[in-house]
Amino acid sequence: MQIHREILDWFDQHGRKHLPWQQDKTPYRVWVSEIMLQQTQVATVIAYFERFMQRFPTLESLALAKEDDVLHLWSGLGYYTRARNLHRAAIMVMETFQGEFPSDLESLQQLPGIGRSTAAAILAIAFQKRATILDGNVKRVLSRLYAIETWPDEKETLNTLWDLAEKLTPIQRVNDYTQAIMDIGATICVRGKPLCEDCPVKRKCAAKKLNIAATLPKPRPRKIPPARSVMLLVLQHEDAVLLEKRPARGIWGGLWSLPEVASNMHMSALKKYCRETFNLTATEIQHGETFRHTFTHFHLDILPVFIECKARADAPNGIWYNPRAARKIGLPAPVKKLLELLHVNTSDSL
Ligand code: SF4
Repeated sequence: MQIHREILDWFDQHGRKHLPWQQDKTPYRVWVSEIMLQQTQVATVIAYFERFMQRFPTLESLALAKEDDVLHLWSGLGYYTRARNLHRAAIMVMETFQGEFPSDLESLQQLPGIGRSTAAAILAIAFQKRATILDGNVKRVLSRLYAIETWPDEKETLNTLWDLAEKLTPIQRVNDYTQAIMDIGATICVRGKPLCEDCPVKRKCAAKKLNIAATLPKPRPRKIPPARSVMLLVLQHEDAVLLEKRPARGIWGGLWSLPEVASNMHMSALKKYCRETFNLTATEIQHGETFRHTFTHFHLDILPVFIECKARADAPNGIWYNPRAARKIGLPAPVKKLLELLHVNTSDSL
């Protein structure tokens, strides 16, 4: 049996048919219900819908209302942009569409707050026109039915889901089918652990077969933070280490840190750099082990290089820091860690 048949048979037996917006169906009532249902569950929406219809029984009455009155009726439902858009859209229907609720996909999507899926739901349910929906619930059902293991809102996956949704949408009884697939998503193929035993398409469901339904749909992939590599120079003479103050802006802004150079600087270049930049003669250079410090948006791979210097030189932009001296200075955590490696006492640093 075709999938849509199974869904419609299920709807005939179990579908919800007595909700307030399923009675006296008009485009206006269907539209208001669809907007209310966008981020809110049916059980909560019922009372709000009934109050809203009592106060604004027609599209014209909503268009004539004050925005404050609309928002007042929406109080507690959340996502108030929905209410503002509803009000603006009612005015637009009165002014741009001469009070006639649009009945094609393109015009509907011109109204504030109506995207492709909501427009299709209005077309299917209120106008009985063949149109395909793909809201969050349907995305979940289809991701599982076809075991799609990528994030549904990723561009290619979304296109695939739209294609599948189009293919499944029947020509006949499109209003019941639309209601049914939304209901299945909301009540059976629920987030987390779906109730597969009650599902009309369980025999065809790839995710159920593979036992991966609870892991789908996949969440938005976390961006992998980029990694940068640097060398930090631990320039030492006797008990002291050369530190430089970081610029106020940027990482470790205003803290005292070790001089930083590109991670690929060679030994000979390092010696030259020490001489030319700090007027220091390096007598011994040793590479430490690279370690990672993670910031919110990137990783910093730090290669410490321990350099013994023949003597100190004046440091116009820095200080020779002796951690044993009772001087409080702000040190970034990785620098503090490195100084601890040198067995120096940094307990007085921030
Ligand atoms: Fe969802 Fe389970 Fe039905 Fe598959 S069988 S569509 S996972 S409820």
